[in-house]
Amino acid sequence: MSANLNIIGVLTSGGDAPGMNAAIRAVTRAAIGQGIRVKAIYRGYKGLIDGEVKEFTSQDVSGIIQRGGTILKSARCTEFQTKEGREQAYQTILREQIDALVVIGGDGTFTGGRLFAQEYDIPVIGMPGTIDNDLWGTDATIGYDTSLSTITECIDKLRDTATSHERIFLVEVMGRDAGFLTLNAAIAGGCEAAIIPERATVMEQIEDAIGNGRRKSKNSSIVLVQEHAVEGGANAVAKMIEKEHPEYSTRVTVLGHLQRGGSPTAYDRILASRMGVAAIQALMDGQRNVMVGIQNDDIVLVPLSKAIHQKKDVKEDKWQAMLTLSI
Ligand code: ATP
Repeated sequence: MSANLNIIGVLTSGGDAPGMNAAIRAVTRAAIGQGIRVKAIYRGYKGLIDGEVKEFTSQDVSGIIQRGGTILKSARCTEFQTKEGREQAYQTILREQIDALVVIGGDGTFTGGRLFAQEYDIPVIGMPGTIDNDLWGTDATIGYDTSLSTITECIDKLRDTATSHERIFLVEVMGRDAGFLTLNAAIAGGCEAAIIPERATVMEQIEDAIGNGRRKSKNSSIVLVQEHAVEGGANAVAKMIEKEHPEYSTRVTVLGHLQRGGSPTAYDRILASRMGVAAIQALMDGQRNVMVGIQNDDIVLVPLSKAIHQKKDVKEDKWQAMLTLSI
């Protein structure tokens, strides 16, 4: 064990994602296995500021690997974005004698963690826990695979109804600024179009989808719309269609928080478990301010600055596959 690594803190922050519990379990057990004590921090950075901390034993994380959400709760905390808020958080670190932090969340969580690490000279390791898969330096984030499966299942159910009526179904999908969930779900669900922020082709795609539908005598279409690809989301796209093509009626389904829930897939559980063990190993190796990522099924460490600031683009072959197969 590294000389000054006696106690670590672990928290989940930002949007919850399936597999966060598996990550908490892995971090806790990997640390305890190395003789490091674990202090669980509730409600993300809010709990760090308020001192909502509980020491975890191995038993505290039993029976949670299959559970969605996060037992530590999550929160969006604007106070942590202020110097005063972070100073208060540091007082908790001192009081609880925490030597290093493992933060599980998305880019906002990493931005806060990095700032905190720089200001107070505390090692921070990030674990990518977000359904959006929008972090650079990792092929996958914890929760993404589960969410993708959930969305695909919803599309399958909608397809049954869609084929029974002559309508265009618009399905709004989450993703913050990224179209990974939408594009991949469109491929998996055999959808007619995917409107994503990375490709500004809304009306062209709609025209193609409608045109192709006519050519193939399809009597239905399912179009996925990433929540922020178009101002107003799927409802705005529906209005555009009804204006240009009044002969078509549209139906909008906003999947909303359904996309975050549910028991994590085996992939997410395994990813979270590997990453949790790697996070503790990284701290023991003296690493700081890095994110644990996965690339080509190998665990990697990526500077938090890169994970946050570099832009991950959608794979062109996937985009082409969606377009090619939607005819
Ligand atoms: P998701 O991708 O699931 O939304 P996220 O981690 O990006 O997750 P955010 O709400 O953006 O979610 O960030 C989580 C928390 O991180 C914020 O509530 C805030 O406490 C902290 N945070 C975000 N940005 C900053 C910042 N610039 N400075 C300090 N703290 C920040």
